[in-house]
Amino acid sequence: MIVTKVRMHMHATIERLTSAGPVITDGAWGTQLQQRGLPLGTCPDAWNLKHPKRVEEVARAYVEAGSQVILTNTFGANRFILARHGLADKVAEINRAGVQISQRAAGDRARVFGSMGPSGKMMITGEVREDELRAAFTEQARAMADAGADAVVVETMSDPAEAALAVAAARGTGLPVVACMVFDSGPDKDRTLMGTTPEQAAEQLTAAGADCVGSNCGQGVAGFVEICRRMHAAVDGPIWVKANAGLPEIVDGQTVYRQTPAEFAQYVPQLVEAGAALIGGCCGTTPEFIRAIREKLRG
Ligand SMILES: [Zn+2]
Repeated sequence: MIVTKVRMHMHATIERLTSAGPVITDGAWGTQLQQRGLPLGTCPDAWNLKHPKRVEEVARAYVEAGSQVILTNTFGANRFILARHGLADKVAEINRAGVQISQRAAGDRARVFGSMGPSGKMMITGEVREDELRAAFTEQARAMADAGADAVVVETMSDPAEAALAVAAARGTGLPVVACMVFDSGPDKDRTLMGTTPEQAAEQLTAAGADCVGSNCGQGVAGFVEICRRMHAAVDGPIWVKANAGLPEIVDGQTVYRQTPAEFAQYVPQLVEAGAALIGGCCGTTPEFIRAIREKLRG
């Protein structure tokens, strides 16, 4: 059998960052903003303009916990999601503010990677055209690059075609690009909603121009070890891992994540062994999880 490994052309920034060992990224933002008063169902990204101090508190809490890379509160700051909140004309402003807020919190202690989530529209059903998506991702990526983001993170993607468009748009800015997808479907929870395997995702995202690939969200950290190992086997490069704090439970209409920071962090050595080079948390994780990851990596 001939095994072809897609060789990544890693951006120098990512190469330098990961050369000294695993890098600690940040944890969840949405749940942290909710704790600071963001009502469910409202637009988190709009808080960059309305409540920048509260957003900065979240970013600062991660830096103080030991995050070497923090993201930006711009996950839904593309024109399609913002349009739901009547803010389609604020893409540039919200993304710029998001980068500046994270930069203020980071100082020279952390890098700021701009978060870019899905459009919320399905290409496969004809709800949105390829050129419309390309334009929307380009608009967002450019705004973050203009504001001085150190990289762009395309995250929580389910459709590899949409992810590839976002990666190409981000790539167009000249910044390093991280791309990660959600694997929480199929009997083994190792496929995206579209049926993409970790190997296919790693190869396709790399071919689209990603410098670093990985997975985030969808399930607890235990399931990420094997996904990480498979992505690492498929491409030559650092793997990005951000797991949820276990599976969510609904208690009295609220989403609750029950995994503790210590339970999460006990998987860190296995993740590193499986090729994880940038490690943080997704939904339900907090600065305490980042502290626990840091302690584990020190040990
Ligand atoms: Zn998540």
